[in-house]
Amino acid sequence: MDALVLGGGLMGTASAFFLARRGVRVTLVERGRIGTGATIASFGNIRRTGRYLPQLPLAHRARALWGEAEALLGRDVEFRATGHLRLIFDTDSLSDMRAFAKAARPWGLDLQELSPTEIRARFPGVGPEAIAASFSPEDGSANPRLIAPAFAAAARALGVRIVEEAGRAEIRQTAAGFEVDTAQGTFGAGVLLNAAGAWGAGIAARFGEPVPLTAFGPQMGVTEPLPHRVLPVVGIWTRDAGRNGYLRQVERGNIVFGGAAERVPVALDPGHAHADPARLPGQVQALVRLLPALRDAAIIRTWSGCEGYVADGLPVMGASATTPGLFHAFGFCGHGFQLGPGVGDAMAELIATGACATPLAEFGIGRFVR
Ligand SMILES: Cc1cc2nc3c(=O)[nH]c(=O)nc-3n(C[C@H](O)[C@H](O)[C@H](O)COP(=O)(O)OP(=O)(O)OC[C@H]3O[C@@H](n4cnc5c(N)ncnc54)[C@H](O)[C@@H]3O)c2cc1C
Repeated sequence: MDALVLGGGLMGTASAFFLARRGVRVTLVERGRIGTGATIASFGNIRRTGRYLPQLPLAHRARALWGEAEALLGRDVEFRATGHLRLIFDTDSLSDMRAFAKAARPWGLDLQELSPTEIRARFPGVGPEAIAASFSPEDGSANPRLIAPAFAAAARALGVRIVEEAGRAEIRQTAAGFEVDTAQGTFGAGVLLNAAGAWGAGIAARFGEPVPLTAFGPQMGVTEPLPHRVLPVVGIWTRDAGRNGYLRQVERGNIVFGGAAERVPVALDPGHAHADPARLPGQVQALVRLLPALRDAAIIRTWSGCEGYVADGLPVMGASATTPGLFHAFGFCGHGFQLGPGVGDAMAELIATGACATPLAEFGIGRFVR
């Protein structure tokens, strides 16, 4: 079997790697450079807390692979299971957290509930006014700048042809499957995997499968290095989107943060997302509640990235509903970084064997036709 993978972000590179491990001959075509779409802009959160429950089997598959990433890829992608702490400041949010924790347990996710005393003892300086928190000890973070190049290099070592700077790829169906004309030549295969991120809906539409997807840029920033004190990823349970921020401290001391600011709409052509300085003061104000030490920290850089948000908040994954041999894995709605290795592994299983042990039916493109 041979396959063309369109898109060299985390989903495309991971899929290429796992397809090659199953003996599929793969050509990966990336319009620009590997990993420079939404993936490189990610906060790097490896979080299962708060996920849509039917997505947890895929998230667990992904989490297991994050744990093996260094051995699989032959390099450290800075995956650290530091735990994921989510602070609570009001009773409505406490009820929401308890309801989620109860519902998630049968799906294999065990959240610990921490009291204010436990938060202060285990994570000094974090959320001094919090009334409770959830803690997911096996979650954490990894480096979004390293992961797609690592999957691409490991895929190349297995024989995958990686085509970068392909430019606008023109796709067409042929008797043998699919062909794509690029600035680097024409490539063909029997199977086509659309892993083009926010641009994936445009490709699906060409095959008669419109998907309601809008591109937005989440607002991210990083501070100067501070003394290293915060171990886990820190977030919040809240019904107020304006307070829904998150942060983590990297080993060098900088605090990386995001959320608590409205995302900026992005035009897919050219797809450059920008950080809006007007949204920064409110964002920092919300984050100071999680970590008061942020009040005095200098912010040294802000950025954003072009991410595809599907109207129902779920990604598109699985076989095309119109075209034999075509598969989709795009539109990860701001939470694809955690899922990435699992998506690659699951898509490779589906493409190579025709079935997938992890349930994907909820994410099928056919839901928009229905
Ligand atoms: C600012 C930000 C913060 C985030 N934080 C988190 C987080 O903390 N945790 C989490 O789980 N998720 C997070 N996400 C989401 C996560 O990063 C994405 O869901 C994930 O990286 C998507 O990967 P992808 O491979 O689908 O897309 P991308 O990385 O965008 O890759 C798609 C690639 O396809 C290429 N392409 C497009 N069209 C074509 C074409 N026709 N032919 C060839 N190539 C094409 C593009 O150039 C691009 O490189 C965040 C996203 C952003 C933007």
